[in-house]
Amino acid sequence: MNIRDSEIIEQLLSQSGFISTSDPEQADLIILNTCSIRAKAEHKVYSLLGDLRKNKLKNPNLLIGVSGCVAQQEGNVIFKKMSHVDIVTGTQQISQLPEMIQRISSGVSKKEIAIELDDNFIIPAAHNLPNHNISTPSPPDVKKFVNIMQGCNNYCSYCVVPATRGREISRPVSDILDEIKMLVNKGTKEITLLGQNVNSYGKTNKVSSKPVDFPDLLTMVAATKGLRRLRFTTSNPKDLTQKLMECFTSVGNLCPHFHLPVQSGSNKILKNMNRKYSVEKYRDKVQTLLSIEPKIALATDIIIGFPGETDEDFEKTMSLLNSVRFHSSFSFKYSDRPGTRSMKFDNKIEETVKSERLKIFQNRQDQISLEKNREYLGKSVEILIESMKKDTAQGRTGTNHIVHVPYLKSMKVGDFANCLIEQAGKHSLKGKVEVTP
Ligand code: SAH
Ligand code: SF4
Repeated sequence: MNIRDSEIIEQLLSQSGFISTSDPEQADLIILNTCSIRAKAEHKVYSLLGDLRKNKLKNPNLLIGVSGCVAQQEGNVIFKKMSHVDIVTGTQQISQLPEMIQRISSGVSKKEIAIELDDNFIIPAAHNLPNHNISTPSPPDVKKFVNIMQGCNNYCSYCVVPATRGREISRPVSDILDEIKMLVNKGTKEITLLGQNVNSYGKTNKVSSKPVDFPDLLTMVAATKGLRRLRFTTSNPKDLTQKLMECFTSVGNLCPHFHLPVQSGSNKILKNMNRKYSVEKYRDKVQTLLSIEPKIALATDIIIGFPGETDEDFEKTMSLLNSVRFHSSFSFKYSDRPGTRSMKFDNKIEETVKSERLKIFQNRQDQISLEKNREYLGKSVEILIESMKKDTAQGRTGTNHIVHVPYLKSMKVGDFANCLIEQAGKHSLKGKVEVTP
């Protein structure tokens, strides 16, 4: 979501005459688009802002802005802690950035802040964004993210998202389809639909003249002429329906890859997290999903060391990992976030214990990923080529595995190629392109 927001910011600023540079010393304007999901992300923002003080001293005309979730959460506190910051823009206000910059540049104001959260916020339609025909980053955009929703109403006890991104709002179907058509016409091959819980798409506000749920939307998007690959993220297991699972067979271009965050293998912890499903329910859903489409590579998110997590609870998470055998997972140490319910829980886990458990979990996941990746040895897979470096091209399979192949002159980014897998590592595969006779 941050990547997508950064692209929108870049589009807006290019309309105001800004050109991007990778060298901060050259910049007249630096916007940090921020994430506050864990304390570490927020600390990085403050540390980078501290470093930028010297840029401001060197170039007093430099404008520094903070946007996104840390801006939303901290508001005026950012000005107090970092007096060289000029602009603070919350998650729903990024489209105001050009005017805020203009007011400072023309001397109308010295500092600008906009952090209101509106329950009826409307995600700007792509065709209402200036320069929507400019592709960022350039060239070419073989893969793009498209927002289908903003915010979240779930209030998992540890999560800052409902506070930083506001109430859940779904975008109108026609805006989503228009944006995707425009991207595919420009050469995009793969789209990932984004929402905090895509399963509740269309449930909180009207998205079309007729009711449209997420599987309906997926089917409509998939029918876009020229769209080769479709993915989505994220899906809360509590709302995962049979209808969505069946899309993996009925929707031809939907990739066999599913990110289904479980967070913990202990029912006690899941309850305290307010996740509203049990481990048994999760296992059942995974079983049904894989019986519908066995090719699916399943990925997950895990929080290690949630308040009250005993050795026994952690063992339950390990046992879930050992039985489900995820292809990959993102695992994080629990982090206290301002305004969340779990912040007030008193049975916090020591940092050293969290680190130890995280290491055990990640080592086991690495072994499983390697074992699962080895199953691809000698097999032929189709990859979409995403980048080239020296003599190697990198692509991804529909299952979202990274594959490296030797670069061939005839290849370009955005091509599809069939590859024979010859080596398997824990994070990627290596192979060679099969040249059709
Ligand atoms: N909407 C998604 C999650 C978005 S946040 C869902 O419900 O699955 C991405 C991931 O960050 C979460 O899945 C969780 O594993 C992690 N996360 C969120 N808050 C956290 C916290 N306070 N401490 C540690 N990890 C956290
Ligand atoms: Fe956060 Fe839960 Fe919403 Fe995901 S579903 S964004 S974890 S509150």
